[in-house]
Amino acid sequence: MTRIHRVTGPDDPVIREAAAILLAGGLVAFPTETVYGLGADGLNSEAVARIYAAKGRPATNPMILHVAAVEWSRSLVSQWPEAAQLLAERYWPGPLTLVLPAAATVPAIVRAGGPTVALRCPAHPVAQALLRAVGRPLAAPSANRSQHLSPTLAEHVASSLGEAVDLILDGGPTRAGLESTILDLSGTRPRILRPGPVTPAELTSILGPVDIWEGATAVGARQDAPGMAERHYAPRARLELVDRGAGLTSSAGRVAYVGIGALPALPAGVRGVLLPLNAEAVAAQLYALLHELDGAGFELIVMERPPEGEAWLAVQDRLQRASAKELA
Ligand code: AMP
Ligand code: MG
Repeated sequence: MTRIHRVTGPDDPVIREAAAILLAGGLVAFPTETVYGLGADGLNSEAVARIYAAKGRPATNPMILHVAAVEWSRSLVSQWPEAAQLLAERYWPGPLTLVLPAAATVPAIVRAGGPTVALRCPAHPVAQALLRAVGRPLAAPSANRSQHLSPTLAEHVASSLGEAVDLILDGGPTRAGLESTILDLSGTRPRILRPGPVTPAELTSILGPVDIWEGATAVGARQDAPGMAERHYAPRARLELVDRGAGLTSSAGRVAYVGIGALPALPAGVRGVLLPLNAEAVAAQLYALLHELDGAGFELIVMERPPEGEAWLAVQDRLQRASAKELA
């Protein structure tokens, strides 16, 4: 069994051990404020290749490099525009990933052969302590098999990746619960590639107009950013979205119904789950709930579509991807 170590704090001696594993080319899963990451030395191509193998991730899907501080970014990019500086000052450490023109020092495997690199500075104290102990950027995608649900607990990592990880640092449940906002600053206008905890309105207030890549909200749109597959973040159970308050008239098999803000009357035998009418709270609980329903053997999860509005954009996006039909 892969070892799961409950980390007591940034001074826990296991951080040194984890850093040694990473510097030797191994894989360590660690908590961030969004979801758990599967980390490898981001400047070691062989170590990064192990992440692709462990996740079953297509080689065309690039990885985010995690840094401990803004200064670490300078050697990883060929340009550091004013917009990046403003955003880093405001949101780092925090759940905002910036895509920028890459420096030649970034291994091609991290960039999936492309000209850009995605950078993020995580706020979680364990992630920060680990990065500082390693002293190098860590490549760290979400610590799950490709296309599956992201992990918000150490146990989710263990059940998804098992023996493929050398050590799992357990920092308890992650706070935000959904992946970081990804903003592409490499083009002529800033563009959101993935909605997340930092909203378009917040970005606009600092940068002025920001585009939202249409595939970031609409399933069925052309895939023009690597890793933005239509079906993603999916539970094993079939997930169907219905309008709020729609309820169920009948049910066959093991069915769960997830209401937002209120729970309608449900047929006997259907498990009802009530989520609050609060986007941040739903984001924080969503993956853990889907993991739990999956683990309990539900075959069908019927979930109410969240309300319209920017605050719900990230939840909307993940639910659309999780409910998209398997790609041919
Ligand atoms: P995950 O692998 O779950 O952590 O998600 C990381 C996301 O970052 C994936 O959707 C990647 O496609 C995206 N990403 C990483 N690097 C880049 C890049 N250079 N340009 C655009 N997206 C990127
Ligand atoms: Mg992922």
